[in-house]
Amino acid sequence: MRHIAVIGSGPAGYYSAEALQKQFGEDVRVDIIDRMPVPYGLIRFGVAPDHQSIKAVYRRYEKVALSDNVRFVGNVLIGRDVSISELLGLYDAVVLATGAPHDRPLEIPGGDLDGVIGSAAFVGWYNGHPDFADLAPPLDVSAAAVIGNGNVALDVARILSKTPAEFAGSDIVGHAFDALGRSTVRDIHILGRRGPHQIAMTPKELGELGHLEAAVPRVDPADFPPVLDDALLEPGQRKSVTHLRDFAGLPAGKPKTIVFDFFARPVAVEGDGRVERLIVEKTALDDKGGAVGTGETYAIDCGLIVTCIGYQTPPIEGVPYETDRGRFANSDGVIGDGLYCVGWARRGPTGTIGTNRPDGYEVAEKIAADLTGGSGGRKEGRPGLDRLLAGRNVDIVTFRDWQKIEEAEAARARDGNPREKFVALAEMLGALGR
Ligand code: NAP
Repeated sequence: MRHIAVIGSGPAGYYSAEALQKQFGEDVRVDIIDRMPVPYGLIRFGVAPDHQSIKAVYRRYEKVALSDNVRFVGNVLIGRDVSISELLGLYDAVVLATGAPHDRPLEIPGGDLDGVIGSAAFVGWYNGHPDFADLAPPLDVSAAAVIGNGNVALDVARILSKTPAEFAGSDIVGHAFDALGRSTVRDIHILGRRGPHQIAMTPKELGELGHLEAAVPRVDPADFPPVLDDALLEPGQRKSVTHLRDFAGLPAGKPKTIVFDFFARPVAVEGDGRVERLIVEKTALDDKGGAVGTGETYAIDCGLIVTCIGYQTPPIEGVPYETDRGRFANSDGVIGDGLYCVGWARRGPTGTIGTNRPDGYEVAEKIAADLTGGSGGRKEGRPGLDRLLAGRNVDIVTFRDWQKIEEAEAARARDGNPREKFVALAEMLGALGR
């Protein structure tokens, strides 16, 4: 028998559990430990609430979760309730699938003013993450700047632009739905420090901006390279750039505008106690495709700035960490003896949900190679963890408990929505009568 602990119940965690099941069959027990009483990590707290078809991947994880040799152990925080070294003493292998839930900071003067919000916080707020329930982003302003040219910037700009009716069928939390309904934001700037050919936005997600009820995207035709250059792009990127070219031809005429500011590098945030404007330096591309400042600056008046410039994995005491890359120090997923990492905690915050799947399968093979013959009974696994946590009065949430929380969330959903999430931990546990 192999006893394996997976830390984190997001996509990387569940793909790893699935792969470990396939690798070891009945000869494995996997405990998926999560600090939240609810599973699925990024699927619940990161994927946009109006992208239910993407969120539907959780059904696949549910199958894994419901099998006998995989267990969800929620409401357990590594470092507070149990340490990595204790887990290494109890399990044959420990796999860190902790994702990258922290924002990379915007390191420019004024970057810490009130009204500058990282995307992890902003996305967490509209997705009902308990840590960001009290965020209260300033939406009583006329303009917002969204920094970054990736899919997260698109999510944030789209959520800021939608009408209440466009959230039908989503699982946006009530506090965000109400606040966005009262929002006075009319101009949303999306800033890229490079040009249209260098965006990190995928075509389907970018195309959505062209079909919003109350907002229209605006792109300056002067920002494009010659149209013939599009042929040099890979097909997906070419499709995205074609969307941008189409946006450049759209008429104005909707109440909100999503302005693409290309070749725009943020250099300072200014304001009296809170954001009033973003100072931007115009850039040009160097011969390697990087952004170089031209010295010319301009100001974007705005009362809210959301930085969508990437994420980092929170360090865990005793686990080697690469500060510059914001992830665990690892060699192809191996951190050290019995300790592995997968997903964004391994690679950094890139790729789609499915990109995490091969990571899970690779780590399962590595564990199999390192663990020929299992622990021979030396590692205790589940009973050892249960005893340790019970001794510390940790209130474990099981997968069955989660299903009760899920039912309660579905029961209180607003019209047509799949669920109304509980936000506070106390509310989640309250649904279990605790
Ligand atoms: P991303 O794709 O890496 O994009 C980050 C953006 O931030 C890039 O445009 C980057 O510009 C810019 N940036 C970085 N540092 C900056 C700085 N200091 N100043 C200005 N701009 C800066 O990251 P992401 O948008 O956070 O997305 C993370 C991953 O999740 C991606 O793989 C994404 O595709 C995925 N995702 C997918 C979906 C979906 O499929 N629906 C939704 C959300 C996220 P440079 O290119 O110049 O570095």
